[in-house]
Amino acid sequence: QAALDHIKSKIREIKDWPKTGVTFRDVCPLFEDPKAFHEAVDFLRDRYSSVQFDIVAGVEARGFVIGSALAYSLGKGFLPLRKEGKLPGPNLSKTYELEYGSSTLEVQNFSSRKGLRVVVVDDLLAKGGTLEAACFLIESCGGTVVEASVLVELSTLGGREVLKGRGWKTFSLLQYD
Ligand code: IMP
Repeated sequence: QAALDHIKSKIREIKDWPKTGVTFRDVCPLFEDPKAFHEAVDFLRDRYSSVQFDIVAGVEARGFVIGSALAYSLGKGFLPLRKEGKLPGPNLSKTYELEYGSSTLEVQNFSSRKGLRVVVVDDLLAKGGTLEAACFLIESCGGTVVEASVLVELSTLGGREVLKGRGWKTFSLLQYD
């Protein structure tokens, strides 16, 4: 619990950003703090060390930070899910709705990923559109989603239920109402 409290203490709360009424949870100070960063990655490492899976997929950009550290610590590879237009193809794309407009994620699709068991990582789960698109892409290229994993879950926004409705499990290290 002390480690969780320490991690939580490094997540900055910004009221009314990016717009009035929204409270933004900023995980960048956690990444910057060596102890909190280690603790956070170690929690995930311990969770997945006994789980049978093949690769970590991370959502650009903050999902890359956690996802690549997790992959390295468990001796796994890393699969980037990038914003539109960054990856040389062939790619699969999925457009999804965000609170302000829409966005598109892409995954490279030049070889079969049939049967690949994937842990999908991002920094934060809000309404679930981002991780829903990420998990959709993993399944579209032949993989199986073992779990969607985040540092922070904004519990009242219903992301977990969205993913559950699609048959995907969610794990979060910290929850906020
Ligand atoms: P969702 O698609 O509504 O679940 O939003 C999650 C995505 O938006 C993640 O990729 C987050 O990085 C980003 N996001 C939404 N709200 C916040 C926040 O309060 N802090 C940090 N990132 C956020």
